Amino acid sequence: MTHVLTASSTKTCKQCPYKYYLRYVVGLRRDREATPLRFGGNWHRGLELLGQGCVAADMQGQLATEYRDRPEYISPEAWEVEYYTVASALAAYAWYYQNDGLEVVATESEFCLPITNPESGRPSTKWRRAGKIDRRIRMGEHEMIEEHKTTSEDIAPGSDYWRNLRIDSQISMYLSAAREIGHPTSGILYDVFRKPQIRPKKLSLKDAVGFLTTNLYCGQTFDVTIQRDEAKKIVGVQVNACKATLEPLKAGPTLRETPAMFGARVLQSITELPDQYFARQEIARTEADMEAAAFELWAIMQQINSMSRTGHWYKNETQCVRMGRCEFCDICFDGVDVTNDVPDGFIRVENPHVELSTLKETNHATNCNAHDSAA
Ligand code: SF4
Repeated sequence: MTHVLTASSTKTCKQCPYKYYLRYVVGLRRDREATPLRFGGNWHRGLELLGQGCVAADMQGQLATEYRDRPEYISPEAWEVEYYTVASALAAYAWYYQNDGLEVVATESEFCLPITNPESGRPSTKWRRAGKIDRRIRMGEHEMIEEHKTTSEDIAPGSDYWRNLRIDSQISMYLSAAREIGHPTSGILYDVFRKPQIRPKKLSLKDAVGFLTTNLYCGQTFDVTIQRDEAKKIVGVQVNACKATLEPLKAGPTLRETPAMFGARVLQSITELPDQYFARQEIARTEADMEAAAFELWAIMQQINSMSRTGHWYKNETQCVRMGRCEFCDICFDGVDVTNDVPDGFIRVENPHVELSTLKETNHATNCNAHDSAA
C-alpha cells in the first residue's frame, strides 16, 4: 500500500496531528462546504477556463453552471451574490492581465512522486508526494510555475502575506516536483486575488432615482421595469428580471442592490483600484531552502508513520480556537469516538485528497504509480 502526502495534508499535520488523522485517515469532512473553499475552487475553475483561451463572457457562462444547484443551507441571495462576485472579479482579472505576456504551457497538472530520504537518497517504499500545479507558464525564455490564491489578507508589498511565503512548504514541494518531472522551472510566480470586502447595500435616494431614470449602474446598463400604484407610487422594481427589494428612507423608498447590480459594483471597484485586489510576485528558493524542505517532509512522514503504528495521534490544543474555530472542535472537546460512526454534521469521504482527481485513494492508502509525471 502506498500513502500520499500533499501540501495540504502536511500543513494539516504540522498544525495538529489529530486533525490530520480525522481529515486524512478517517476521512471526515463537514457536510457543509465552507464558503472560502468553494469561492477558491470556483476562482480556480474560472482561471483554468481563461487559461484555456475562454473569453470572459463564456467563462462567466460556464461558471454559472457551477452555481446552478444551490445548497439548501445558503440563501438564494447569498448564492447569487457569491456567483456575481467571483464572475465579476474574474472578468476584472482577465482585463487586468490581458497583456501580461505570459504564455500558458499547461493548466492543472497533477504529479505523484517518491518521497526521498534526504540523507540516504533512497525513496520511501510506502509514501509518495502528490499535488496539482495550477499552471506552467512561459515568460520570455523562462518557464515557471504559477500558483493562484484568493485571500482576505493584506497583499501590499512587504506585508506579512508575502513574507510568510518565504517559508511556505507548498512552494518548495511544487518547485521540487516540477524540476523532478523534468520541467525547466526557474521559479514560482505567486498570483493572488484579495477578495472584495464590500457587501450589497441600500442605494441612496439620489442614486436610486438616477438608476431608475438612466438604467445605468456602476457603468453597466440593466433592464429595469417599474411597477406603480394608482397614485404613481413605486411599489415594485425588477432589474434584469430579478425583483429588487424596496427599502424605506426618510425621504421615500429606495432599493437594495440586486446581486447583478452588486456584481457591477464589484467590477467597478476592482477596475478602479486593481492594485488593491491583484498582486503577483516571484518567490525564490535557494538550494538550502530546498534541502530544508526535503528534511521537513521526511520528518513529517516519519512522525505520521510513528503515530499510525501506535494509533496515538497527539492533539495540538493551541490550534483549536485561536485562528478561527477548528472544524473538529465538537469532536475533540466532547471526546466523540469516530472509529465506527460518522458524527452529526460530517460525512466520510473515500478520497481524502479530493483536489487530486486522478488519485484513487481509499482510507489513507493509494496507488498513484501511474502519475509519476504531470498529466
Ligand atoms: S479541535 Fe484542536 S485538537 Fe481537535 S483536531 Fe482541531 S486543532 Fe486538533
